[in-house]
Amino acid sequence: MNNSLVDSHGREIKYLRLSVTDRCNLRCVYCMPKKGIKLLEREEILSFSEILRIVDIFTKLKIRKVRLTGGEPLVREDIDNLVESLIAANPEIDYAITTNGTLLDKHYKKFADCGLKKINISLDTLGASKYSLLTRNKIYTPQMILDYIDKATSYGLKDIRINSVISGFNDKEDIRSMVDLAIIKHIRIRFIEAMSTNKLPDRYIECGRPSYSHDNGLSASGDTNDAFTNDNFKENIINILNEFGTVSKVKNLNELGPASYYRIDNSDGLIGIISNGASYCNNCNRIRLTSDGRLKLCLYSKNSLNLKKLLRSGSSDLEISQVIEKYVNKKPCNKFSNKSGKKILLPEYMNRVGG
Ligand code: SAM
Ligand code: SF4
Repeated sequence: MNNSLVDSHGREIKYLRLSVTDRCNLRCVYCMPKKGIKLLEREEILSFSEILRIVDIFTKLKIRKVRLTGGEPLVREDIDNLVESLIAANPEIDYAITTNGTLLDKHYKKFADCGLKKINISLDTLGASKYSLLTRNKIYTPQMILDYIDKATSYGLKDIRINSVISGFNDKEDIRSMVDLAIIKHIRIRFIEAMSTNKLPDRYIECGRPSYSHDNGLSASGDTNDAFTNDNFKENIINILNEFGTVSKVKNLNELGPASYYRIDNSDGLIGIISNGASYCNNCNRIRLTSDGRLKLCLYSKNSLNLKKLLRSGSSDLEISQVIEKYVNKKPCNKFSNKSGKKILLPEYMNRVGG
């Protein structure tokens, strides 16, 4: 026991993304359908004690970073208590949470008090009407989320970052506003190319399709994102960064992830870009646990290991960790491993897997 997790390609697995619920108070166009999605029954979702046990097992397998995600993690009842218990049980883990930020005002104090340091907020546009269309909600606005970020930061949560998914819904103006925000607020923003799923229509997702103009009445304003094709995603974002000043690539950021980072002269804000290629697969150090306890080795994989079954069938920690070690060994080399030149699609809704 207590080996590190290493796959058959020599990659050491250090990072667990753990989805605590499939439920969400938003319905982002690229993540969930407007209606009709079948949500998990409560008893199918891992309980807090099961989550604590599995994180403990992964900690002994030398996982060093755990990110709580969802669905929307902050809609899970007593999420603060879970975060507090996780940190108390295994303080050596680098914990983080990814949230849409809409409920941050109710949680940031407890998060800060129990020692959570890192929060990623998903925010794709600062435009209120576009945000409402994109998230299919009429309650929350980008301004509310920016206010919660300010409150949380002044309370002591200094490491708050923003993720912006670039889909058929946002355009160059949205990206410019986000870059402005990074510069003004000295924060890190990552632009993420939307991934297609086999569950949702591509017109909601693909960069390069200003679908909102004919889908839902929001006018395309003449400056659409039609330059954002899959091939030149990164270059097009860099071109926008160049409008703000001299751009330099940031090296040695001590972060093993899929983003390339850039800095604009005379600014503290960092801009990350995650495009949809597979080049980062070579260094992939992450695995995912769905809210119903399935271990997934790749976002694009249709297969998973049912850890919930093991947790609920009297298996010992040692038995479970041995099964995990063996399974992780099979992590696919890259997202194209099991495909033959066809477009790669996510096999399930993102709210199930956690991004
Ligand atoms: N609800 C939380 C949130 O939105 O941050 C956490 C769960 S969400 C599934 C995790 C991340 O996945 C978010 O940053 C979201 O923007 C991203 N995501 C969802 N669907 C995506 C897609 N089709 N392509 C790329 N990123 C996606
Ligand atoms: Fe909810 Fe996050 Fe999916 Fe948006 S991306 S619908 S906030 S789970």
